[in-house]
Amino acid sequence: MGLGAARQTVLVTGAAGFLGSHLCDRLLGDGHEVIGLDNLVTGTLDNLADAMKSPRFHFEIGDVRDSIAVFAQQIFNFACPASPVHYQADPHFTLTTSVMGAQRVIDAARGRKCTIVHASTSEIYGDPLVHPQPESYWGHVNPIGDRACYDEGKRCAETLLFDARRRWGVDARVVRIFNTYGPRMAIDDGRVVSNFVAQALEKKPLTIYGTGDQTRSFCYVSDLVDGIVSMTRPAVLDGPVNIGNPDEFTIRQLGEMVTELLGWGEVVYKPLPNDDPKQRQPDITRAKSVLGFEPKVKLRQGLKSLIEDFRGRLDQRANRAP
Ligand code: UDP
Repeated sequence: MGLGAARQTVLVTGAAGFLGSHLCDRLLGDGHEVIGLDNLVTGTLDNLADAMKSPRFHFEIGDVRDSIAVFAQQIFNFACPASPVHYQADPHFTLTTSVMGAQRVIDAARGRKCTIVHASTSEIYGDPLVHPQPESYWGHVNPIGDRACYDEGKRCAETLLFDARRRWGVDARVVRIFNTYGPRMAIDDGRVVSNFVAQALEKKPLTIYGTGDQTRSFCYVSDLVDGIVSMTRPAVLDGPVNIGNPDEFTIRQLGEMVTELLGWGEVVYKPLPNDDPKQRQPDITRAKSVLGFEPKVKLRQGLKSLIEDFRGRLDQRANRAP
């Protein structure tokens, strides 16, 4: 189907999350009717403050594992805890949200004119042996480790969606999202960018896990949302598409940049979590050629926006504290 200029009814699952809420804002800005679904386990209504101002936004508290009674022309399936701290807090919840959620959106789209854009993840590549990671790489995942509830849940969701494409002609599209950061990230989600920025603002030591030589490639949220929305174009998308920013940094380099921006450089080293991927960088050749995707925001620039957002929210939190 694809999102064109005409107004469409769009369902966003995980609407109150970091990415889901930015996506809702963008879709509302583009003139669509947006139904946001979220169980508010990791998302918050604060994230939807802007969306709630629009008469074209409708919010429902609900779990994506239950059946979906919404007749949308477009579904963005973004419901799932996504930071390691959040998704490991209740592994069964994470895995069932990923797998059953994919089945529910398939059920909602099957036999109708409806496009699904499903949020998959670079985690499906595990601790990759191929670098950078192209979509053709099948990954290197520990199926019984601490991260498996998320990694295998997301892998299984991809399987369901591609089977539904082949078997029932469901227009399911899969975007593999690499590390993303920006305003509205949960301050306590335990991710490296949120941890470092919050720690530096609160003058606490930056926690580097392991040696800090492991790498990640960080994409600013507005670039990511551009890529996600472009996934609805009527291009031929018969396979998954990586979306992310290929600029790769060691975790130490990220710490140095935060230190430089905030003038706070105390560091403490902590053990590396189990199965922590050593390197990660998206190969975005496919996204560039099929979608014309090109990330624009450099890490330093994006961090400045995140710092402003965190500063405001940490101040609010301090003022609210008894
Ligand atoms: N990390 C770190 N300090 C922190 C949080 C994370 O050194 O306070 C490391 C983590 O071990 C990993 C990388 O930063 O190697 C990215 O972690 P994050 O949780 O942001 O996302 P992941 O890509 O692992 O899902």
